[in-house]
Amino acid sequence: MYNSNLLPKCILCGETPPMGIMDGVVLRSKFLCHGCEQKILDLDTCSIDYDAIIEKLKILWVSKM
Ligand SMILES: [Zn+2]
Repeated sequence: MYNSNLLPKCILCGETPPMGIMDGVVLRSKFLCHGCEQKILDLDTCSIDYDAIIEKLKILWVSKM
């Protein structure tokens, strides 16, 4: 069914969800688990968390694989 080498690590929490790549989204070839995706969607844009997460995403997205 699903290939075991497709077990991406979330760029945010560093976890591999049980369902692997099915359990999140791929953004610019970076994987984001569903939990973190929800976290970002639920974030208040003024919160400290939001800034921290965006910073992290920026670093990861700027760096080439
Ligand atoms: Zn995550």
